[in-house]
Amino acid sequence: NLSSSLKDALKKLAGKTVVDRAAVDDLVKDLQRALISSDVNVKLVMELSKAIRTRSLEEEPPKGMNVREHVLRIVYQELVRLVWASTEVKLEPQTILMAGLQGSGKTTTTAKLARYFQKKGMKVGVICADTFRPGAFDQISTLCTKINVPCFGNPQEKDALKITREGLAALKEQELIIVDTQGRHALEAELIKEIIDLNVLTKATHRWLVIDAALGQQASEQAKRFHEAIGIDGVIITKMDGTAKGGGAMSAVAETKSGIAFIGSGETIEDLERFDPDGFISRLLGMGDLKALVERANEAINPEDVDVNAMMKGKFTLRDMYKQLEALNKMGPLKQIMGMLPLGNMQLPEGVYDVTSTKMVRYRIIMDSMTAAELDEPSLINSSRMQRIAHGAGATPDEVRELIKYYKMMQRTLKGLRGGQGGGKFNMQRL
Ligand code: GDP
Ligand code: MG
Repeated sequence: NLSSSLKDALKKLAGKTVVDRAAVDDLVKDLQRALISSDVNVKLVMELSKAIRTRSLEEEPPKGMNVREHVLRIVYQELVRLVWASTEVKLEPQTILMAGLQGSGKTTTTAKLARYFQKKGMKVGVICADTFRPGAFDQISTLCTKINVPCFGNPQEKDALKITREGLAALKEQELIIVDTQGRHALEAELIKEIIDLNVLTKATHRWLVIDAALGQQASEQAKRFHEAIGIDGVIITKMDGTAKGGGAMSAVAETKSGIAFIGSGETIEDLERFDPDGFISRLLGMGDLKALVERANEAINPEDVDVNAMMKGKFTLRDMYKQLEALNKMGPLKQIMGMLPLGNMQLPEGVYDVTSTKMVRYRIIMDSMTAAELDEPSLINSSRMQRIAHGAGATPDEVRELIKYYKMMQRTLKGLRGGQGGGKFNMQRL
Protein backbone atom coordinates (compact mmCIF):
# COMPACT_ATOMS: atom_id res chain seq x y z
CA ASN A 1 0.00 0.00 0.00
CA LEU A 2 1.43 3.26 -1.21
CA SER A 3 0.58 5.51 1.63
CA SER A 4 1.75 3.27 4.46
CA SER A 5 5.08 2.38 2.86
CA LEU A 6 5.70 6.02 2.06
CA LYS A 7 4.85 6.95 5.60
CA ASP A 8 7.30 4.37 6.89
CA ALA A 9 9.99 5.70 4.62
CA LEU A 10 9.33 9.23 5.72
CA LYS A 11 9.45 8.18 9.34
CA LYS A 12 13.04 7.13 8.84
CA LEU A 13 13.83 10.66 7.79
CA ALA A 14 12.10 12.25 10.76
CA GLY A 15 14.45 13.77 13.25
CA LYS A 16 17.44 13.80 10.88
CA THR A 17 19.24 17.08 10.56
CA VAL A 18 21.12 16.41 7.34
CA VAL A 19 19.83 14.64 4.28
CA ASP A 20 21.71 11.39 4.17
CA ARG A 21 22.05 9.32 1.05
CA ALA A 22 21.02 6.03 2.60
CA ALA A 23 17.76 7.44 3.95
CA VAL A 24 16.90 9.06 0.64
CA ASP A 25 17.69 5.82 -1.21
CA ASP A 26 15.39 3.98 1.15
CA LEU A 27 12.63 6.44 0.56
CA VAL A 28 13.06 6.32 -3.20
CA LYS A 29 12.97 2.53 -3.17
CA ASP A 30 9.72 2.53 -1.23
CA LEU A 31 8.28 5.15 -3.49
CA GLN A 32 9.21 3.09 -6.56
CA ARG A 33 7.57 0.00 -5.21
CA ALA A 34 4.47 1.96 -4.33
CA LEU A 35 4.15 3.76 -7.66
CA ILE A 36 4.65 0.60 -9.66
CA SER A 37 1.99 -1.19 -7.69
CA SER A 38 -0.30 1.76 -8.43
CA ASP A 39 0.28 1.05 -12.13
CA VAL A 40 2.55 3.93 -12.90
CA ASN A 41 4.78 2.96 -15.81
CA VAL A 42 8.21 1.59 -14.82
CA LYS A 43 10.24 3.89 -17.04
CA LEU A 44 8.40 6.84 -15.64
CA VAL A 45 9.04 5.68 -12.09
CA MET A 46 12.76 5.49 -12.83
CA GLU A 47 12.83 9.02 -14.19
CA LEU A 48 10.95 10.25 -11.17
CA SER A 49 13.24 8.50 -8.71
CA LYS A 50 16.27 10.00 -10.34
CA ALA A 51 14.90 13.51 -10.09
CA ILE A 52 13.83 13.03 -6.49
CA ARG A 53 17.17 11.56 -5.46
CA THR A 54 19.21 14.29 -7.14
CA ARG A 55 17.12 17.15 -5.87
CA SER A 56 16.89 15.82 -2.31
CA LEU A 57 20.65 15.55 -2.05
CA GLU A 58 21.64 18.66 -3.94
CA GLU A 59 19.10 21.24 -2.89
CA GLU A 60 19.34 23.06 0.39
CA PRO A 61 16.26 22.49 2.49
CA PRO A 62 14.33 25.79 2.61
CA LYS A 63 14.63 27.68 5.90
CA GLY A 64 12.49 26.27 8.62
CA MET A 65 11.89 23.00 6.84
CA ASN A 66 13.27 19.80 8.30
CA VAL A 67 14.76 16.99 6.24
CA ARG A 68 11.61 14.96 6.13
CA GLU A 69 9.55 17.90 4.95
CA HIS A 70 12.19 18.83 2.43
CA VAL A 71 12.13 15.40 0.82
CA LEU A 72 8.38 15.07 0.97
CA ARG A 73 8.03 18.44 -0.69
CA ILE A 74 10.28 17.32 -3.54
CA VAL A 75 8.39 14.06 -3.99
CA TYR A 76 5.18 16.00 -4.12
CA GLN A 77 6.52 18.63 -6.51
CA GLU A 78 7.94 16.08 -8.91
CA LEU A 79 4.65 14.21 -9.05
CA VAL A 80 2.66 17.36 -9.57
CA ARG A 81 5.06 18.54 -12.27
CA LEU A 82 4.40 15.36 -14.16
CA VAL A 83 0.67 15.89 -14.42
CA TRP A 84 0.65 19.61 -14.09
CA ALA A 85 0.01 20.71 -17.65
CA SER A 86 -3.72 20.73 -17.16
CA THR A 87 -4.97 21.06 -20.71
CA GLU A 88 -6.31 24.43 -21.63
CA VAL A 89 -10.01 24.42 -22.32
CA LYS A 90 -11.15 27.37 -24.38
CA LEU A 91 -14.67 28.54 -24.95
CA GLU A 92 -14.28 29.04 -28.69
CA PRO A 93 -15.64 27.31 -31.78
CA GLN A 94 -13.90 23.96 -31.98
CA THR A 95 -14.17 20.30 -32.85
CA ILE A 96 -13.23 17.66 -30.30
CA LEU A 97 -12.45 14.11 -31.39
CA MET A 98 -12.89 11.46 -28.70
CA ALA A 99 -10.40 8.59 -28.70
CA GLY A 100 -10.12 5.53 -26.49
CA LEU A 101 -10.99 1.88 -26.28
CA GLN A 102 -14.49 0.49 -25.90
CA GLY A 103 -15.76 0.76 -22.36
CA SER A 104 -13.36 3.54 -21.40
CA GLY A 105 -16.24 5.98 -21.07
CA LYS A 106 -16.09 7.95 -24.34
CA THR A 107 -19.81 8.13 -24.97
CA THR A 108 -20.67 9.07 -21.40
CA THR A 109 -17.91 11.65 -21.39
CA THR A 110 -19.07 13.05 -24.73
CA ALA A 111 -22.43 13.85 -23.16
CA LYS A 112 -20.77 15.24 -20.03
CA LEU A 113 -18.58 17.51 -22.14
CA ALA A 114 -21.57 18.63 -24.20
CA ARG A 115 -23.25 19.60 -20.95
CA TYR A 116 -20.12 21.32 -19.64
CA PHE A 117 -19.75 23.55 -22.68
CA GLN A 118 -23.47 24.14 -22.94
CA LYS A 119 -23.49 25.46 -19.39
CA LYS A 120 -20.70 27.83 -20.35
CA GLY A 121 -23.08 29.24 -22.96
CA MET A 122 -21.84 27.50 -26.09
CA LYS A 123 -23.96 25.97 -28.85
CA VAL A 124 -22.93 22.34 -28.84
CA GLY A 125 -23.60 19.48 -31.24
CA VAL A 126 -22.61 15.82 -31.11
CA ILE A 127 -21.83 13.37 -33.91
CA CYS A 128 -22.06 9.64 -33.29
CA ALA A 129 -19.33 8.12 -35.43
CA ASP A 130 -19.49 4.79 -33.61
CA THR A 131 -20.81 2.36 -36.20
CA PHE A 132 -19.49 -0.67 -34.39
CA ARG A 133 -21.25 -0.96 -31.07
CA PRO A 134 -24.92 -1.98 -31.36
CA GLY A 135 -27.15 0.72 -29.94
CA ALA A 136 -24.37 3.30 -29.96
CA PHE A 137 -26.56 5.99 -31.51
CA ASP A 138 -29.39 5.26 -29.10
CA GLN A 139 -27.06 5.61 -26.14
CA ILE A 140 -25.66 8.99 -27.09
CA SER A 141 -28.84 10.45 -28.54
CA THR A 142 -30.77 9.59 -25.36
CA LEU A 143 -28.15 11.43 -23.29
CA CYS A 144 -28.17 14.38 -25.67
CA THR A 145 -31.96 14.65 -25.66
CA LYS A 146 -31.86 15.01 -21.88
CA ILE A 147 -29.73 18.10 -22.17
CA ASN A 148 -31.22 19.41 -25.36
CA VAL A 149 -28.12 19.03 -27.48
CA PRO A 150 -28.53 18.06 -31.15
CA CYS A 151 -27.01 14.68 -31.92
CA PHE A 152 -26.35 13.46 -35.45
CA GLY A 153 -26.07 9.80 -36.36
CA ASN A 154 -27.45 7.00 -38.46
CA PRO A 155 -27.69 3.52 -36.96
CA GLN A 156 -28.13 1.98 -40.43
CA GLU A 157 -24.97 3.46 -41.90
CA LYS A 158 -21.71 1.53 -41.48
CA ASP A 159 -19.37 4.19 -42.83
CA ALA A 160 -18.24 6.40 -39.95
CA LEU A 161 -16.64 8.90 -42.31
CA LYS A 162 -19.83 9.35 -44.28
CA ILE A 163 -21.84 9.94 -41.10
CA THR A 164 -19.30 12.43 -39.84
CA ARG A 165 -19.22 14.32 -43.12
CA GLU A 166 -23.01 14.59 -43.07
CA GLY A 167 -22.97 15.43 -39.39
CA LEU A 168 -20.57 18.31 -39.85
CA ALA A 169 -22.88 19.75 -42.51
CA ALA A 170 -26.01 19.17 -40.45
CA LEU A 171 -24.51 20.78 -37.35
CA LYS A 172 -22.78 23.70 -39.00
CA GLU A 173 -24.78 26.14 -36.89
CA GLN A 174 -23.21 24.74 -33.70
CA GLU A 175 -20.07 26.36 -32.32
CA LEU A 176 -18.61 23.26 -30.76
CA ILE A 177 -18.81 19.74 -32.16
CA ILE A 178 -17.87 16.62 -30.26
CA VAL A 179 -17.29 13.47 -32.30
CA ASP A 180 -17.85 10.23 -30.39
CA THR A 181 -15.98 7.34 -31.99
CA GLN A 182 -15.97 3.58 -31.74
CA GLY A 183 -13.40 1.88 -29.59
CA ARG A 184 -13.50 -1.90 -30.09
CA HIS A 185 -11.65 -4.13 -27.71
CA ALA A 186 -8.13 -3.94 -28.94
CA LEU A 187 -6.13 -1.61 -31.04
CA GLU A 188 -6.83 -3.14 -34.44
CA ALA A 189 -5.30 -1.53 -37.50
CA GLU A 190 -8.77 -0.81 -38.83
CA LEU A 191 -9.71 1.20 -35.79
CA ILE A 192 -6.52 3.21 -35.99
CA LYS A 193 -7.01 3.91 -39.67
CA GLU A 194 -10.55 5.08 -39.08
CA ILE A 195 -9.60 7.51 -36.36
CA ILE A 196 -6.79 8.91 -38.49
CA ASP A 197 -9.29 9.52 -41.29
CA LEU A 198 -11.77 11.09 -38.90
CA ASN A 199 -9.09 13.38 -37.59
CA VAL A 200 -8.25 14.55 -41.10
CA LEU A 201 -11.90 14.93 -42.10
CA THR A 202 -12.95 16.91 -39.03
CA LYS A 203 -9.72 18.93 -38.78
CA ALA A 204 -10.18 18.34 -35.07
CA THR A 205 -9.06 21.15 -32.77
CA HIS A 206 -8.55 18.65 -29.95
CA ARG A 207 -7.99 14.91 -29.79
CA TRP A 208 -8.75 13.78 -26.29
CA LEU A 209 -7.93 10.31 -25.04
CA VAL A 210 -10.41 8.80 -22.63
CA ILE A 211 -8.82 6.42 -20.13
CA ASP A 212 -10.44 4.36 -17.41
CA ALA A 213 -8.80 5.10 -14.04
CA ALA A 214 -8.64 1.36 -13.40
CA LEU A 215 -6.56 0.69 -16.49
CA GLY A 216 -3.18 -0.59 -15.43
CA GLN A 217 0.11 -0.88 -17.24
CA GLN A 218 -1.61 -1.18 -20.65
CA ALA A 219 -2.43 2.52 -20.43
CA SER A 220 1.00 3.49 -21.75
CA GLU A 221 0.73 1.26 -24.79
CA GLN A 222 -2.77 2.47 -25.67
CA ALA A 223 -1.78 6.07 -25.26
CA LYS A 224 1.28 5.52 -27.42
CA ARG A 225 -0.72 3.98 -30.29
CA PHE A 226 -3.37 6.69 -30.31
CA HIS A 227 -0.75 9.38 -29.93
CA GLU A 228 1.24 8.12 -32.91
CA ALA A 229 -1.95 7.99 -34.96
CA ILE A 230 -3.56 11.34 -34.26
CA GLY A 231 -1.47 13.29 -31.74
CA ILE A 232 -3.37 13.20 -28.45
CA ASP A 233 -3.44 16.65 -26.84
CA GLY A 234 -5.36 15.92 -23.68
CA VAL A 235 -6.37 13.03 -21.46
CA ILE A 236 -9.65 12.47 -19.66
CA ILE A 237 -9.61 9.99 -16.79
CA THR A 238 -12.97 8.38 -16.13
CA LYS A 239 -14.33 6.43 -13.18
CA MET A 240 -12.32 8.31 -10.58
CA ASP A 241 -15.31 7.82 -8.30
CA GLY A 242 -14.21 4.19 -7.94
CA THR A 243 -11.30 2.89 -5.93
CA ALA A 244 -8.67 3.16 -8.68
CA LYS A 245 -6.09 5.85 -8.24
CA GLY A 246 -5.39 6.59 -11.87
CA GLY A 247 -1.73 5.63 -11.88
CA GLY A 248 -2.10 4.12 -15.34
CA ALA A 249 -3.60 7.29 -16.66
CA MET A 250 -0.63 9.18 -15.29
CA SER A 251 1.59 7.06 -17.53
CA ALA A 252 -0.66 7.90 -20.48
CA VAL A 253 -0.15 11.56 -19.79
CA ALA A 254 3.60 11.13 -19.76
CA GLU A 255 3.44 9.10 -22.99
CA THR A 256 1.49 11.75 -24.89
CA LYS A 257 3.28 14.67 -23.25
CA SER A 258 -0.15 16.21 -22.83
CA GLY A 259 -2.10 17.06 -19.71
CA ILE A 260 -5.23 15.89 -18.03
CA ALA A 261 -8.19 17.95 -19.13
CA PHE A 262 -11.05 16.45 -17.13
CA ILE A 263 -11.89 13.81 -14.57
CA GLY A 264 -15.03 11.71 -14.78
CA SER A 265 -16.38 11.22 -11.28
CA GLY A 266 -19.64 9.36 -11.68
CA GLU A 267 -22.28 8.04 -13.99
CA THR A 268 -24.50 11.09 -14.29
CA ILE A 269 -24.09 13.79 -16.87
CA GLU A 270 -22.95 16.32 -14.29
CA ASP A 271 -20.10 14.18 -12.98
CA LEU A 272 -17.28 15.86 -14.82
CA GLU A 273 -14.62 17.96 -13.15
CA ARG A 274 -11.75 20.00 -14.42
CA PHE A 275 -8.54 18.28 -13.45
CA ASP A 276 -6.89 19.39 -10.24
CA PRO A 277 -3.28 18.19 -9.82
CA ASP A 278 -3.17 18.58 -6.04
CA GLY A 279 -6.19 16.44 -5.45
CA PHE A 280 -4.97 13.84 -7.87
CA ILE A 281 -1.52 13.50 -6.33
CA SER A 282 -2.81 13.47 -2.78
CA ARG A 283 -5.05 10.64 -3.76
CA LEU A 284 -2.26 8.80 -5.54
CA LEU A 285 -0.11 9.10 -2.44
CA GLY A 286 -3.04 8.52 -0.14
CA MET A 287 -1.70 11.06 2.30
CA GLY A 288 -1.65 14.71 3.06
CA ASP A 289 1.29 15.85 5.12
CA LEU A 290 0.34 18.60 7.49
CA LYS A 291 2.99 21.04 6.43
CA ALA A 292 2.33 20.48 2.75
CA LEU A 293 -1.35 20.88 3.33
CA VAL A 294 -0.87 24.15 5.13
CA GLU A 295 1.32 25.39 2.31
CA ARG A 296 -1.31 24.48 -0.18
CA ALA A 297 -3.97 26.00 1.98
CA ASN A 298 -2.16 29.29 1.92
CA GLU A 299 -1.45 29.16 -1.78
CA ALA A 300 -4.93 28.17 -2.76
CA ILE A 301 -6.55 31.19 -1.29
CA ASN A 302 -6.19 34.66 -2.49
CA PRO A 303 -7.03 36.54 0.72
CA GLU A 304 -8.42 39.44 -1.29
CA ASP A 305 -11.09 37.12 -2.58
CA VAL A 306 -12.67 36.77 0.79
CA ASP A 307 -13.88 39.88 2.50
CA VAL A 308 -12.79 38.88 5.96
CA ASN A 309 -13.83 42.11 7.59
CA ALA A 310 -17.34 42.03 6.27
CA MET A 311 -17.62 38.42 7.28
CA MET A 312 -16.43 39.09 10.80
CA LYS A 313 -18.87 41.97 11.08
CA GLY A 314 -21.71 39.61 10.42
CA LYS A 315 -22.16 39.68 6.68
CA PHE A 316 -21.64 36.26 5.19
CA THR A 317 -23.35 35.93 1.85
CA LEU A 318 -23.70 33.06 -0.58
CA ARG A 319 -21.00 34.78 -2.59
CA ASP A 320 -18.57 34.40 0.33
CA MET A 321 -19.52 30.78 0.67
CA TYR A 322 -18.98 30.22 -3.03
CA LYS A 323 -15.43 31.57 -2.77
CA GLN A 324 -14.74 29.44 0.25
CA LEU A 325 -16.04 26.31 -1.36
CA GLU A 326 -13.94 27.06 -4.39
CA ALA A 327 -10.81 27.50 -2.31
CA LEU A 328 -11.52 24.49 -0.12
CA ASN A 329 -12.22 22.41 -3.14
CA LYS A 330 -8.62 22.80 -4.20
CA MET A 331 -7.34 21.39 -0.95
CA GLY A 332 -8.94 18.06 -0.30
CA PRO A 333 -11.17 16.63 2.36
CA LEU A 334 -12.66 19.37 4.47
CA LYS A 335 -12.25 17.51 7.72
CA GLN A 336 -8.55 17.03 7.19
CA ILE A 337 -8.07 20.70 6.50
CA MET A 338 -10.19 21.87 9.39
CA GLY A 339 -8.22 19.51 11.59
CA MET A 340 -4.98 21.34 10.95
CA LEU A 341 -6.22 24.89 11.16
CA PRO A 342 -5.47 26.79 14.36
CA LEU A 343 -9.00 26.63 15.64
CA GLY A 344 -7.94 25.67 19.10
CA ASN A 345 -10.39 23.36 20.77
CA MET A 346 -13.32 24.91 19.04
CA GLN A 347 -16.15 22.62 18.10
CA LEU A 348 -17.70 22.83 14.69
CA PRO A 349 -21.06 21.21 14.04
CA GLU A 350 -20.56 17.80 12.45
CA GLY A 351 -22.75 18.85 9.49
CA VAL A 352 -20.14 21.34 8.31
CA TYR A 353 -18.03 18.42 7.22
CA ASP A 354 -20.87 16.72 5.46
CA VAL A 355 -20.14 18.29 2.16
CA THR A 356 -18.20 16.08 -0.21
CA SER A 357 -16.22 17.48 -3.09
CA THR A 358 -18.83 16.25 -5.56
CA LYS A 359 -21.42 18.10 -3.58
CA MET A 360 -19.29 21.24 -3.55
CA VAL A 361 -19.19 21.05 -7.31
CA ARG A 362 -22.98 20.71 -7.38
CA TYR A 363 -23.37 23.66 -5.04
CA ARG A 364 -21.19 25.78 -7.26
CA ILE A 365 -23.23 24.84 -10.32
CA ILE A 366 -26.39 25.82 -8.50
CA MET A 367 -24.88 29.10 -7.36
CA ASP A 368 -23.87 29.75 -10.96
CA SER A 369 -27.50 30.04 -11.85
CA MET A 370 -28.28 32.55 -9.13
CA THR A 371 -28.38 36.26 -9.83
CA ALA A 372 -25.86 38.65 -8.31
CA ALA A 373 -28.59 40.03 -6.06
CA GLU A 374 -29.41 36.58 -4.75
CA LEU A 375 -25.78 35.81 -4.03
CA ASP A 376 -25.47 39.03 -2.06
CA GLU A 377 -28.81 38.71 -0.33
CA PRO A 378 -29.77 35.04 0.01
CA SER A 379 -32.96 35.91 1.89
CA LEU A 380 -34.38 37.00 -1.47
CA ILE A 381 -34.62 33.38 -2.51
CA ASN A 382 -38.30 32.51 -2.24
CA SER A 383 -39.88 29.41 -3.67
CA SER A 384 -40.39 30.74 -7.19
CA ARG A 385 -36.78 31.86 -7.35
CA MET A 386 -35.81 28.48 -6.03
CA GLN A 387 -37.65 26.83 -8.92
CA ARG A 388 -35.92 29.07 -11.42
CA ILE A 389 -32.46 28.42 -9.93
CA ALA A 390 -33.06 24.67 -9.86
CA HIS A 391 -34.18 24.70 -13.45
CA GLY A 392 -31.21 26.74 -14.63
CA ALA A 393 -28.75 24.44 -12.88
CA GLY A 394 -30.39 21.20 -13.94
CA ALA A 395 -31.00 20.51 -10.25
CA THR A 396 -34.05 19.76 -8.15
CA PRO A 397 -35.58 22.37 -5.82
CA ASP A 398 -34.63 20.03 -3.00
CA GLU A 399 -30.97 20.37 -3.90
CA VAL A 400 -31.28 24.15 -3.85
CA ARG A 401 -33.04 23.93 -0.50
CA GLU A 402 -30.23 21.76 0.83
CA LEU A 403 -27.67 24.30 -0.32
CA ILE A 404 -29.51 27.11 1.46
CA LYS A 405 -29.67 24.97 4.57
CA TYR A 406 -25.94 24.39 4.41
CA TYR A 407 -25.38 28.09 3.92
CA LYS A 408 -27.46 28.89 6.99
CA MET A 409 -25.50 26.42 9.06
CA MET A 410 -22.20 27.98 7.95
CA GLN A 411 -23.60 31.41 8.75
CA ARG A 412 -24.63 30.31 12.23
CA THR A 413 -21.24 28.71 12.77
CA LEU A 414 -19.48 31.94 11.86
CA LYS A 415 -21.72 33.87 14.20
CA GLY A 416 -20.81 31.44 16.93
CA LEU A 417 -17.13 31.92 16.18
CA ARG A 418 -17.40 35.66 16.40
CA GLY A 419 -19.21 35.47 19.69
CA GLY A 420 -17.44 32.52 21.29
CA GLN A 421 -14.06 32.24 22.94
CA GLY A 422 -12.51 30.56 19.91
CA GLY A 423 -12.69 33.89 18.09
CA GLY A 424 -9.26 35.20 18.98
CA LYS A 425 -7.40 32.24 17.62
CA PHE A 426 -9.42 31.91 14.51
CA ASN A 427 -7.50 32.85 11.41
CA MET A 428 -9.95 33.56 8.70
CA GLN A 429 -7.35 34.14 6.03
CA ARG A 430 -6.37 30.57 6.28
CA LEU A 431 -9.88 29.29 6.08
P1 GDP B 1 -17.37 3.87 -24.38
O1 GDP B 1 -17.49 2.46 -24.84
O2 GDP B 1 -15.94 4.32 -24.34
O3 GDP B 1 -18.23 4.80 -25.13
O4 GDP B 1 -17.85 3.88 -22.86
P2 GDP B 1 -19.26 4.29 -22.24
O5 GDP B 1 -19.41 5.78 -22.26
O6 GDP B 1 -20.35 3.52 -22.89
O7 GDP B 1 -19.06 3.86 -20.72
C1 GDP B 1 -18.85 2.54 -20.30
C2 GDP B 1 -19.37 2.39 -18.88
O8 GDP B 1 -18.62 3.17 -18.00
C3 GDP B 1 -20.81 2.85 -18.73
O9 GDP B 1 -21.49 1.93 -17.92
C4 GDP B 1 -20.71 4.19 -18.05
O10 GDP B 1 -21.83 4.49 -17.26
C5 GDP B 1 -19.48 3.99 -17.20
N1 GDP B 1 -18.79 5.25 -16.91
C6 GDP B 1 -18.26 6.16 -17.75
N2 GDP B 1 -17.68 7.18 -17.08
C7 GDP B 1 -17.84 6.92 -15.78
C8 GDP B 1 -17.42 7.57 -14.56
O11 GDP B 1 -16.77 8.64 -14.54
N3 GDP B 1 -17.75 6.96 -13.39
C9 GDP B 1 -18.47 5.79 -13.36
N4 GDP B 1 -18.76 5.28 -12.18
N5 GDP B 1 -18.84 5.15 -14.46
C10 GDP B 1 -18.54 5.69 -15.66
MG1 MG C 1 -19.27 4.49 -26.88
